[in-house]
Amino acid sequence: MAETDRNPETFRIILLGTGSPRPSLERHHPAALVQWGDGGHMLVDAGDGVVGQLLAAEVPLQEVHNVALTHMHWDHILGYPAFVWGSWNAGRLKLTVTGPIGTRDMHQQLVESYYREQAEWAMDLRFPRAGFDEITVRDVPVGWSESIDGCLVEAGPVYHPPMHALAYRYTYRGRSLVVTGDTAKCDELIDFCQGVDLLVIDACAAAPSPELPPERRRIIERLHEFHASPQDCIDIAAQAGVAKVVLTHHLPGVVPEFDSAGYAGEIVTGEDLDIIEI
Ligand SMILES: [Zn+2]
Ligand SMILES: [Zn+2]
Repeated sequence: MAETDRNPETFRIILLGTGSPRPSLERHHPAALVQWGDGGHMLVDAGDGVVGQLLAAEVPLQEVHNVALTHMHWDHILGYPAFVWGSWNAGRLKLTVTGPIGTRDMHQQLVESYYREQAEWAMDLRFPRAGFDEITVRDVPVGWSESIDGCLVEAGPVYHPPMHALAYRYTYRGRSLVVTGDTAKCDELIDFCQGVDLLVIDACAAAPSPELPPERRRIIERLHEFHASPQDCIDIAAQAGVAKVVLTHHLPGVVPEFDSAGYAGEIVTGEDLDIIEI
């Protein structure tokens, strides 16, 4: 499905996980795969379940060798060591991992430090050394950009205190996509999203259901300090002139509510394994 029908015009995103930290069978932790052309790709975030979701999307694990992380919150990286091992087991060689300040340290602590001894043992069993040793991990700032297989990839600003966090913008053959990671509404992000064809955005800060216990309601209300509400997402899309907006990072059981009167574009509530063409 995901690999066999690619051609030079392909540009799409596969939503691998559209959930939030609280585990759910319906929505996995945040992760998405951006694909362009015949082989260009970037895995954006690697929450719990990412390996299974890549398999469910029929993506050959060994071919995923570009990863971008938006930030180091657990729900975005719990699946990262599983991805490193799983893709290596499947035959992956080199790997490039890009993220904000803290990405190198995360890799050092979660992969290199604990698993080096086991990796050496695996290499004795003829696992290709490159799969563990040729992993390039780089901390990049807002404003970083690189052309990867014909796609311009840029790191942009978000507001997700106290974390160092990034959004990513992809421009391929005149079409464009922004994936925000976690963020509250902010002017810098609106500038970064100006005119894109597709915006995939954190809509986690939905209003809590009145049926929830007060303690849980208070936690959810505080989320708005660090996350956009569904209405914020629509407003950002409208202010940035975005053609289509996909809401993700949903809390269990929450159906996003918003007033779309001020937005002429298309609105999608993202579901796991949705494939959205750009
Ligand atoms: Zn976060
Ligand atoms: Zn998150």
